[in-house]
Amino acid sequence: MTIKATRRQAIGLLLEGAGVAAAAGAGLAGFVSTARAKGFEPLPPGADADFYNKCIRCGLCVKACPYDTLKLAGLGAKVPYGTPYFEPRKIPCYMCEDVPCVKVCPSGALDRRFDDIRKARMGIAAIDPNSCLSWQGLRCEVCYRDCPLRDKALLLKPHPRELSKHAVFAPVIDPDHCTGCGLCVYGCPTQVPAINIIDPKTFLGRIGEHYRLGWREDQPHHPGNPAEKLQQAPQAPAAPGGLDFLNNMDDPTL
Ligand code: SF4
Ligand code: SF4
Ligand code: SF4
Repeated sequence: MTIKATRRQAIGLLLEGAGVAAAAGAGLAGFVSTARAKGFEPLPPGADADFYNKCIRCGLCVKACPYDTLKLAGLGAKVPYGTPYFEPRKIPCYMCEDVPCVKVCPSGALDRRFDDIRKARMGIAAIDPNSCLSWQGLRCEVCYRDCPLRDKALLLKPHPRELSKHAVFAPVIDPDHCTGCGLCVYGCPTQVPAINIIDPKTFLGRIGEHYRLGWREDQPHHPGNPAEKLQQAPQAPAAPGGLDFLNNMDDPTL
């Protein structure tokens, strides 16, 4: 049975992850096409915010990568000429614990203080539910098994399957944990991958501090939040002031 992924479901794919802000305006499938048209290619881990200005195109990170993941952009590439990037469908980043590519960078384009590959943000995975086998009701879950941060970056969520009693187990990304390594893209068995690495800057929104998600324990104003508990602790009564005296002139304690 085919599950039609509506625009709302497509947006829900990402929104289900903790800490996701907003994805208003476009269906995910449409968004993935837009990201492809813009030609985003993931950067090496630990890339500085000013990466393209700081990178001196020396290629040392490319040489240091034991998996030949990184390569320098040639003429006509989607990223600036001579800068390192990778194509996850060909060779993903295998998330080396010792991050050798970062350690050799002489210019600070890759930040040498970066030492936890789980905190890398090379891009962010996004799923097109209309071509994802699992979202369409088949069992696949290759991306789930291949993800080095499974159950954190990539989760399987049960969804009702129309009239069938068997649920669909659909992959969902949590952008708070996804590193953009692309191992999921590499393993995806569909003809054109149903999962892609896209530019977080062009996709992730920010919810704004004036919205209150009071039902979430990690949020301010939830009674379970430790900071909130502290605020609700009984306070010592304030010493009476002049106004108290005027309001109650009969009270001998004032
Ligand atoms: S973390 Fe490892 S696999 Fe990934 S780009 Fe760096 S050296 Fe290559
Ligand atoms: S590997 Fe591809 S088709 Fe399979 S569940 Fe993941 S995104 Fe869907
Ligand atoms: S890019 Fe894919 S495999 Fe890598 S952390 Fe994100 S969801 Fe997991």
